[in-house]
Amino acid sequence: MRDVVVLGSTGSIGVQTLEIIADNPELFNVIAISSAGSNPDLVIAQAKRFSVKYVGVIKNAETIRQALPGVKVIDGALASTEIAEIKCDVVINGITGSIGLGPTLAALQSGNVLALANKESLVAGGDLVMHRAKPGQIIPVDSEHSAIFQSSLAGKKNEIKKLIVTASGGPFKDRQNLDGISVSDALKHPTWSMGAVVTINSATLINKGLEIIEAHHLFQMPYSQIEAVIHPQSVVHSLVEFHDGSTIAQASPPNMKGAIAYAMNWPARLPNSTSPIDWSVPHNWSFEPVDSRKFPAIDLARHCGEIGGALPAIFNAANEVAVEAFIGGKLSFKAIVEVVAAVVAELEKDSPKTLRDLDDVSAIEDDARSRASAHLIRLAP
Ligand code: MG
Repeated sequence: MRDVVVLGSTGSIGVQTLEIIADNPELFNVIAISSAGSNPDLVIAQAKRFSVKYVGVIKNAETIRQALPGVKVIDGALASTEIAEIKCDVVINGITGSIGLGPTLAALQSGNVLALANKESLVAGGDLVMHRAKPGQIIPVDSEHSAIFQSSLAGKKNEIKKLIVTASGGPFKDRQNLDGISVSDALKHPTWSMGAVVTINSATLINKGLEIIEAHHLFQMPYSQIEAVIHPQSVVHSLVEFHDGSTIAQASPPNMKGAIAYAMNWPARLPNSTSPIDWSVPHNWSFEPVDSRKFPAIDLARHCGEIGGALPAIFNAANEVAVEAFIGGKLSFKAIVEVVAAVVAELEKDSPKTLRDLDDVSAIEDDARSRASAHLIRLAP
């Protein structure tokens, strides 16, 4: 029986994690959950369903406390960080955004195994995170990185030549231009069902940029050995090329449960965690290069990653502001990446070469966010 802590329990990853646990009560025991608390009814229902000992929330703490006598409710901006420190067998970090960095560092500091879905932790604070992590302490949950992790087991680390990260291409892959795209258009992902922010990030291909930076840190590979390829069917989740010329892929229908269950139950596979490919029907799997003129986000992310230091954190923070503005109707779709590029260009020359701690990350992010906000006014539709 593994004691599990779920951060971001009411989000897409958190909800699916709890479904896996509900299906496997003999294997997993939830001891703590955390979330923003914007949906107190769901938090209360989850806490009762899994008889958790601890709940962490930012908002609605009093309502939740009254509904859950006997449960220790931790509240405030650092609630998820405190919950991440609770000793357990595995912490799932399903928080969206770089606010997940503090909890990631806290889980690692406590010696907990971390099943990491929060890619922004590695983008904003990759060196900090990897410096703190012991070998094998982080198990990737992001489907591409889970696929690379699984495929890399086919050879030795020094036999890996290249990591190939697949991208669906999002809903606008075949669109002539990116003018006049509405929020609801951008939220219609062709293959994956995910939270709003990651869905928008998939439509701009920012998500793939973030994932290249994530892969660089997780697998300690130079950027020149990480490639993105468009694979619209989202069945091959990523590939690893070995130095003998062989490429190993991991494939399963697009569903996060396989990757979540693999990380939670590592090193054993969890039976029936996702439905397998149905070979009784025809399949066409296609692969094509990224159109980096139409989707400049990947090249921009790669540039930020190669410069390193604070620049990936700047890239991500500017994007978080721009995506929120787009969802709120204050920015056009096309302008999301323009805002990110403008902020990166402004801060690149003087951006710190190293980030020493969480305070350094927060300071640079605050700067990037305020500069992004200034561009919102300039680019308002
Ligand atoms: Mg992914």
